[in-house]
Amino acid sequence: MAITDHYDIVIGLEVHCQLKTKSKLFCDCKNQFGCEPNENTCPVCLGMPGTLPVLNRVAVDYSIKTALAIGAKVAETTKFDRKHYFYPDLPKGYQISQYDEPYCTGGGLNVNLSDGSSKFIELNRIHMEEDAGKLSHSEDSHMADSIVDLNRAGTPLMEIVTEPVISTPEEAYVYLTELKQLLEYIDVSDCNMQEGSLRCDANISLKPKGAAKLGTKVEIKNMNSFKNVQAAIEHEVKRQYLAIENDETIVQETRLYDVDKDVTRSMRSKEEANDYRYFPEPDLPRLAIDENWIEEIRSTLPELPAQRRQRYRDSYGLPDYDIAQITADRNIADFFDAVAENCKAYKEISNWMMGEVMRELSERKLSISEFEVQPKALAELISLIEQKVISKKIAKEDVFPEMVKNKLAAKTVIEEKGLKVESNDDVLLPIIREAISANPKAVADIRAGKKKAIGAIIGSCMKATKGKADPQSLSALVQSELERLL
Ligand SMILES: [Zn+2]
Repeated sequence: MAITDHYDIVIGLEVHCQLKTKSKLFCDCKNQFGCEPNENTCPVCLGMPGTLPVLNRVAVDYSIKTALAIGAKVAETTKFDRKHYFYPDLPKGYQISQYDEPYCTGGGLNVNLSDGSSKFIELNRIHMEEDAGKLSHSEDSHMADSIVDLNRAGTPLMEIVTEPVISTPEEAYVYLTELKQLLEYIDVSDCNMQEGSLRCDANISLKPKGAAKLGTKVEIKNMNSFKNVQAAIEHEVKRQYLAIENDETIVQETRLYDVDKDVTRSMRSKEEANDYRYFPEPDLPRLAIDENWIEEIRSTLPELPAQRRQRYRDSYGLPDYDIAQITADRNIADFFDAVAENCKAYKEISNWMMGEVMRELSERKLSISEFEVQPKALAELISLIEQKVISKKIAKEDVFPEMVKNKLAAKTVIEEKGLKVESNDDVLLPIIREAISANPKAVADIRAGKKKAIGAIIGSCMKATKGKADPQSLSALVQSELERLL
């Protein structure tokens, strides 16, 4: 891109992640998507005068867990603040958030880029806050109604903020993918972008190459997939570049990304922090997070994605491509580990997982937990191939589909259908002799020195045994039989 010859691209990302607690952040209403409008509300989250917020301990647990997983520093004490703005989906007229003393600072994620390099994306902070409700606007022009649903009002969020260290749209995409994977591994959010439990805003600016002063930043909102984030950043960088080159001034504003038209549109001028009139939330005491609490949470941390990738390299010797595919989803990786406990042919397991298993899951839109074949059963099937009881071809075409369809064990399918590999000379020899006499042209070719013609004879033996002949025994027997004849 010619733009980067003259300008540095500076990107910072803010991710809002909804925590999967049972109840909301300051009241005991259900934190659940898809309920009847305003079903999950109470005087606290409706902002009734005289009500008091009570902090959800599990939301803090999950927030601490995230901080530890991402290598950030948890503050000894922290506080909540009111962030004021007027909007119909915000009944109190303010949002309880954290302003100048977030519960955690620093940390970051190492990301691997497509050119083989890697980069550490530093975080500025993570803070806790409550979400607002949701507005739906009527599309009927005769009824200019807007409907307010406050089920989401008061649900717990973490806002995860990077330093402005991201320099390309690809880095943004890879960072988001890595972050989502981490949040799923530590099980603090379902990260469902369609339901809005993971949302991303990007701050983008350009500055002349090497300049110290940052350019005017523009915030892009409304991006509901990581591919859209990447596309929106690409678009916005070009827009700002053209504006600067034409001596236009970049306005500090919030823009919306329109996926269908691939353009960003101005939404509103960007608020400064002082527009929000932040002040400490008087209804919540300061929150002390002591060492014991942190250590208690640390002990619940599972193996993290980067650690698991390293283990797959060290213990299983898998190629990086396989590792990335298998560990992308923690449940798939858990399944892999369970298969590997019962079968040592790790690369074969990986091939089966990336091939037959994932194909089956994606075709039928199943999650691995709903899959009919259990890890032990898959391990048995792969072991039977390794022991040359059945061929790989038969395993894929005849055995595996039956295991999925009728939940049968591989051994049962092989027994019932008589699919065992045939390596017995007494069975194979008559078939070979038959094949030789049925293929006089191939025999003549072999006589004339065309060794490849042996393939025709082996092929017709395979056909006669419906693919069950053991390739090695078959090939050796055909060779010796031909030598005897010639
Ligand atoms: Zn409530």
